[in-house]
Amino acid sequence: MPSSVEVKGFEAGKKMKGVMGQYFMELMGPEASGRKIAWCTSVGPAELLRALGFEVYFPENHGAMLGASRMATDLIPLANARGFSPDICSYLTSDVGSYLKGESPFNKMKLPGPPKADVLVFNTNQCRDVKDWFGFYAREWNVPCIGVHTPRAIGEVNDIIIEAVAKQIEALVEPLEKISGNKLDMDKLAQVTELSRKCTELWKAVLETAANVPSPITFFDDTIQMGPAVVLRGTQEAVDYYEILLAELEQRIADGVGAVDDEKYRIYWEGMPIWGKLKNLAVQFIELQAAVVASTYCNSWIFDDLDPDKPFEGMARAYSKIYICRSDEPKEAYMERMIEKFKIDGVLYHNAKTCPNNSNSRYDMPQRFGARTGKPFVVIDGDLNDLRLYSEEQTRTNIEAFIEQLSQG
Ligand code: SF4
Repeated sequence: MPSSVEVKGFEAGKKMKGVMGQYFMELMGPEASGRKIAWCTSVGPAELLRALGFEVYFPENHGAMLGASRMATDLIPLANARGFSPDICSYLTSDVGSYLKGESPFNKMKLPGPPKADVLVFNTNQCRDVKDWFGFYAREWNVPCIGVHTPRAIGEVNDIIIEAVAKQIEALVEPLEKISGNKLDMDKLAQVTELSRKCTELWKAVLETAANVPSPITFFDDTIQMGPAVVLRGTQEAVDYYEILLAELEQRIADGVGAVDDEKYRIYWEGMPIWGKLKNLAVQFIELQAAVVASTYCNSWIFDDLDPDKPFEGMARAYSKIYICRSDEPKEAYMERMIEKFKIDGVLYHNAKTCPNNSNSRYDMPQRFGARTGKPFVVIDGDLNDLRLYSEEQTRTNIEAFIEQLSQG
């Protein structure tokens, strides 16, 4: 039976469609600027690329679109047939499948599809898959693939790590200048970094409105609202957008409007979104009067350490401190702060089969963390994009049982 429950939309949503649409048009449409195009991983040195005059394209955003549109499941087998295992990142396999088939969600916007890169720039802070992903296109198009090798499972982010990563980012300047045909202007880099920092501050403020009871926004809204923070950080457009969204959220708080009517339970989402099932999950949680109010995923685009006065060091610190490239101790300490701040009742861990890098339920963390904090947890088996790895029925039942457990706590 179809649910009568509605997910509440945001007025700002219309504006976001415009902002994202304009960004895609400038990359791929008839209005394309003709500037050189750099592909960048989602937590790569975007500020440097923008300062050098590149148009910056983020293929993980396309990966999420392939998941959300559910095109991924049909496209992944093409990449598997080409030689990319079904066990590896399903952003990678859906994106490569999309390229091989020549089909993309961009076509629905009457755009030709992802723009061809002049250079591909990775940062391995999140995983090795991004480098392999970019390597495929570098071979296809015979263009350079360069980047930063950040250590993983970092405990303390110390000066040795920062210096090593900052030097690697600085070493990109020379090859990137050659490709872009522009000399790096340090004033421009400071200006872009300042805009990026402002964007990050506003995005953080947006996410923190969810500390309010009832929360005016949920994780499922955040996964959509984060678009400009990912692809447009370093631009005025992103800053302007989050000022508008933040004002709307503050108004909801002033009016006592929650994203979930009669909110009873507050959940933390650990791990990747399940892009093809966002709406179904959002509706189920609303029905259960449970608000998913915080997540590690959406918080990954808060970069407090960006520093216009020391742009290389700032990027190194910001991009090496992110949750995904830390060891379990700082991860747990971080989650503990989040649980207190957002008044969390229980934690949902998404074990994404093709992303071990952003699944934290495999080495005893839920049990350890649950025992220490006393917070109940549930582990959902699924995937970010490959819906063949996800059982809707089983997940629904597990979530219901979890909320039932919270109701007795
Ligand atoms: S972190 Fe996970 S989802 Fe993201 S690119 Fe790497 S393997 Fe894919």
